[in-house]
Amino acid sequence: MSKSKTFYVTTPIYYVNDVPHIGHAYTTLACDVIARYKRARGYDVAFLTGTDEHGQKVEMAAKANGETPLELADRVVKRFQALWTKLNVSHTDFIRTTQERHKHTVQEQFKAIEAKGDIYLGEYEDWYCTPCETFWTETQLLDGNCPDCGRKTTKLKEESYFFRMSKYQDQLLKHIEDHPDFIQPKSRRNEILSFVKEGLRDLSISRTSFSWGIPAPGNEKHVIYVWFDALTNYISALGYPEDKDGKFATYWPAVHVIGKDILRFHAVYWPTFLMAAGLPLPEKVFAHGWWTVEGQKMSKSLRNVVEPNKLIDTYGVDAIRYFLLREVPFGLDGDFSHNALVHRINSDLANDIGNLVSRSTAMLNKYFAGRLPAPQAADSTDQALIDQFSVTIEKIDTHLNNMAFNKALISIWELISAGNKYIDETAPWALAKDEKQRDRLATVMYNLLESIRIIALLVAPFMPETGEKILQILGCDPTDLTLDGQDQWGGLVAGTTIEKASPLFPRIDTK
Ligand SMILES: [Zn+2]
Repeated sequence: MSKSKTFYVTTPIYYVNDVPHIGHAYTTLACDVIARYKRARGYDVAFLTGTDEHGQKVEMAAKANGETPLELADRVVKRFQALWTKLNVSHTDFIRTTQERHKHTVQEQFKAIEAKGDIYLGEYEDWYCTPCETFWTETQLLDGNCPDCGRKTTKLKEESYFFRMSKYQDQLLKHIEDHPDFIQPKSRRNEILSFVKEGLRDLSISRTSFSWGIPAPGNEKHVIYVWFDALTNYISALGYPEDKDGKFATYWPAVHVIGKDILRFHAVYWPTFLMAAGLPLPEKVFAHGWWTVEGQKMSKSLRNVVEPNKLIDTYGVDAIRYFLLREVPFGLDGDFSHNALVHRINSDLANDIGNLVSRSTAMLNKYFAGRLPAPQAADSTDQALIDQFSVTIEKIDTHLNNMAFNKALISIWELISAGNKYIDETAPWALAKDEKQRDRLATVMYNLLESIRIIALLVAPFMPETGEKILQILGCDPTDLTLDGQDQWGGLVAGTTIEKASPLFPRIDTK
């Protein structure tokens, strides 16, 4: 597989001191859609997700539960993995920061950067928030309290290893300026640019105040602290630095998809670590927005945390996958509401795509006993439909390469509307009454079912079960979701038997 046809996408590793919620599901689904789409376009895709399992919070939570940190992690990791299975997430690897392969890479990274003189031992003193495991500068505090959680902070001093981040300020600035797509969306890029311009401080990357972490090489008193450990997962999963099976050379650099709250770590810390190690920077860091629930911020205390398992059980996996990526432009904040979800299911899924499939297969069964006829010469209505498909498929490709998932779905739905409009314009029921129009009716039915075949392939990255189900109805191979070649008009074979489809998405009663 040539380098140009590989694609590497990552979710953040999720912290095990948290349970999977809709925000995790959202990030992971976005990565899944782009991974599936790239595969359909012939790419060899590596898709990484995983869990961040170290740190003081995990150590403390485990202690409170009377278990070891690893026991806690093992328990929570299963919940993440089960959710990804339930959501049909097609990741190719799942990394845990407690795995040997990860610890090894982190220590090798540490040694390499230390040998270069960019890691040094010093003393760290600042205002520390224990629950957040974060040091804050005097100016960052809000009324003396942690700006993140509002709790009391304490002045803390400890010996610490530092990463010479300040040294890479200009190099990072230049990279961001030279690569306009490196940080997306643009508003986020501007935030990072001004942050870097304010000046980068050296970064404390070890702690002696707790022990649940990866020991610093040659100084076991220290554990390597949060981001130097966590961010390295993106290359430890590729077997760096040994790269015995060539994964690093094949797949790196990655596209990192993250929530906007961790952008600074991905767009500033991580690139400077990589610069110090002499490695290429990520291809792209895309920071998406946050979800509110029924207009309110999601929080444990409000008891409004949306539990993805429950949603899938109620509405079905594809409806949830569709809703999350359709409702809000990727990169902006969005609101999750049950009304909006039910509305999308009834209008976009049950009505638009559901009706197109059920009407078309029903007519084929009524007029041709379910046997697909060969099309005859296309008239201008047919040609307009065929042309619209080829133009729109190009647009969808552009949208997906820009991670504009909602725009890609809007474009796919334009094709679905075009199919429904084609039925209205050609009025097959009228053609069926006139024996002389038999050839015309054959052409119309072929074009309709052919539209549905291409639509099925296009929706498959978003709604894999639905895409496969439709292909099965059409007598196509549901395991072959390739778009390259198969997105050309005329793929359905005349003579195929197609059964009348049952409703794909039953309407949800809103009463
Ligand atoms: Zn805090």
